[in-house]
Amino acid sequence: MRPWEANVRRVVPYVPGDQPKGSKLIKLNTNENPYPPAPGAERAIREMDTDRLRKYPDPTVSDLVEVLAEYYGVGTDQVFVGVGSDDVIAMSFLTFFNSPKPVLFPDITYSFYKVWADLYRIPYETPKLDGDFSIIPRDYKRENGGVIFPNPNAPTGVYMPLDQVEDIIKANQDAVVIVDEAYIDFAGPSALGLIGTYDNLLVVQTFSKSRSMAGLRIGFAVGNPALIKALNDVKYSYNSYTMNLPSIVMGVESVKDREYFEDITGKITATRERAKIRLRELGFTFPDSKANFIFASHKSVPAAQIFEALKKEQIYVRYFDGERLDNSLRISIGTDEEMETLFAFLERFLGEQ
Ligand SMILES: *Cc1c(COP(=O)(O)O)cnc(C)c1O
Repeated sequence: MRPWEANVRRVVPYVPGDQPKGSKLIKLNTNENPYPPAPGAERAIREMDTDRLRKYPDPTVSDLVEVLAEYYGVGTDQVFVGVGSDDVIAMSFLTFFNSPKPVLFPDITYSFYKVWADLYRIPYETPKLDGDFSIIPRDYKRENGGVIFPNPNAPTGVYMPLDQVEDIIKANQDAVVIVDEAYIDFAGPSALGLIGTYDNLLVVQTFSKSRSMAGLRIGFAVGNPALIKALNDVKYSYNSYTMNLPSIVMGVESVKDREYFEDITGKITATRERAKIRLRELGFTFPDSKANFIFASHKSVPAAQIFEALKKEQIYVRYFDGERLDNSLRISIGTDEEMETLFAFLERFLGEQ
């Protein structure tokens, strides 16, 4: 070992889903939105004066903060914008999880939480999901240095009713509770309505899924002004110009177009409900998903085998290995046409097994 190697931070990184290249393929592996971003966003970027790119972008991202505050009916001092919710959550771990007590998150959840905890050397414990993949609120009533969970959960799609979410927040008023609502727009009521009641609640959302802008990297957090100030203080101690100008310009237009947003999220949830019926007919079982994906296993054919067969057909879904996950596929909801291609292939393939 070379002497400097003793000083290298060693981490096991998060493994993102494949981003295969090619136009023919059907990409149902990273929960992207199959529909284009809001038309106003495209127009705004075409008309943007590129001379503006000479200058640094607004470090406060105030244009986006303002439209989001208005959209969600909160103050501008209650919104923090970051480079995707991954950036917002990473910053939140750094800002809020500084206790010697363990941070709590479910054993089966967004696998990045563990990576950030390790990166920042934050102790953590991972209470087990129930047999039906639901989070058990009582497991989050022990001593802790903070709590984070997605709602709906990933990669299961299971949505926790708001009264149970509130139960967890209420039981943990000595610590910050982060609700990661990456998929909430496909699900049910958001915890945003609880911000006014609980000053320890931070709700994180993203433009990557329901707003069809994964490529722009926009995420945001909403919470009590004291939490938002703490996040900004850490951000300005790290990198002030995080959000690039094109993302700000297009993000603002996306928020302004409520009608388009409701139209595409409505289409995706309708396609998801039809997909549940078709997958059941094909012999799959799955927890009831309220997200834009379904976490399914087949009654007789191993998930790994289906995954490989789909890949050969240029249909990409996500396969996870690991305890309780390795016989399931996470299938993102595409357009009706993409889903039909998937089902037609599965019908043929499973029929031959
Ligand atoms: C997709 C996802 C994110 C990250 O989204 P970005 O905004 O694209 O960084 C965060 N949490 C969960 C649970 C997700 O599924």
